Amino acid sequence: MKIKFPKDGRFGEFGGKYIPETLVPAIEELESSYLRYKNDQSFKKELNYYLTEYAGRPTPLYYAKNLSEKIGGAKIYLKREDLLHGGAHKINNTLGQALLAKRMGKTRIIAETGAGQHGVATAMACACLGLKAEVYMGLRDTVRQRLNVFRMNLLGCHVHTVESGSQTLKDAINEAIRDWITNVNDTYYLLGSAVGPHPYPVMVRDFQSIIGREILQQMKKIGKSHPDTVIACVGGGSNAIGTFYPMIDTDTEIIGVEAAGEGLETGHHSATLNAGSKGVLHGMMTYLLQDTEGQIKETHSISAGLDYPGVGPEHSYLKDTRRVRYASATDDEVIRAFLLLTKTEGIIPALESAHAIAHAVKIAKKKQKSDSIVVTLSGRGDKDVEVVEEYVKKNF
Ligand SMILES: *Cc1c(COP(=O)(O)O)cnc(C)c1O
Repeated sequence: MKIKFPKDGRFGEFGGKYIPETLVPAIEELESSYLRYKNDQSFKKELNYYLTEYAGRPTPLYYAKNLSEKIGGAKIYLKREDLLHGGAHKINNTLGQALLAKRMGKTRIIAETGAGQHGVATAMACACLGLKAEVYMGLRDTVRQRLNVFRMNLLGCHVHTVESGSQTLKDAINEAIRDWITNVNDTYYLLGSAVGPHPYPVMVRDFQSIIGREILQQMKKIGKSHPDTVIACVGGGSNAIGTFYPMIDTDTEIIGVEAAGEGLETGHHSATLNAGSKGVLHGMMTYLLQDTEGQIKETHSISAGLDYPGVGPEHSYLKDTRRVRYASATDDEVIRAFLLLTKTEGIIPALESAHAIAHAVKIAKKKQKSDSIVVTLSGRGDKDVEVVEEYVKKNF
């Protein structure tokens, strides 16, 4: 079931490299460099140093006793990626790729960002490692997420405003790819999730797999070799695949949670695996939210980080082979889960992560006290308190 490094870049029929010819040399260089460094002792040592000393790994696996007892059922454990530098799991990936870029002799890093979280995580890694960063961001997103633009600027990163298309994430990705084609010699494209053409989905998964590996180690302390159930939210799918991958060959029940937004039936959601169809976007074959003509649909989620019309190809594969189940949570359920975790445990989760909490709350009561559910808390929610306040005023 585990696909380590597919030579053809495929997970079953998904993945691949749907790229313009002008990008082929850059992707080939990336692939051979990644293959060379992923098992290189000095690279691994350097990455481990920054993950530990700079980012704050390992993160705790916290038994959420109050929450578990309130729900009454399985024991819920939280993998605290929210405690990492920058407040989310994204730094695992940006440090890994930025270090790789350095080894490849690249001096200029470009990236795309939607809500700005990946842009900020890229800017942090680049400031730390002495690399020049430029981030593409849709105009609409720069307005909605002004603070993150300001953060990136403070971190010494130039933000390119993208005025084409819907002026959001997918347009920012298109512009970043255009830049890469023109500047392949000195430029490294630091992609923000387990998406895109091969080898990005594999590489990002590997950098994020530290989450799942630590969970397995930490389960030993409570006398189990693996969790009974593991849950993570799915946008592009990087925190989820990083959590799931090391457990694929165990009998852990694995559940990804997508954003059902205002409800799957309303069309206002970003639940790609629940409601999408197969197609090609951003260099990969995967499930997409598209219309009958193949045009990408507008997505909606209360959490900006899950608002993506595609999903990593390995998730499409894990869905079709039924190794992983993909559930969804509505905005309403997410806000309730956010408020519940905040009140019971004193932990303010990112709205993205609150999707995973919402699903854990749903299933925990049907399980035994001896069962364990591990939820990856992908990030902290300080960034989301205004959205929550507004939602509660309007709807509760
Ligand atoms: C970006 C982000 C996500 C979604 O990205 P994935 O690649 O699906 O992990 C989830 N949670 C948080 C906190 C994020 O910042």
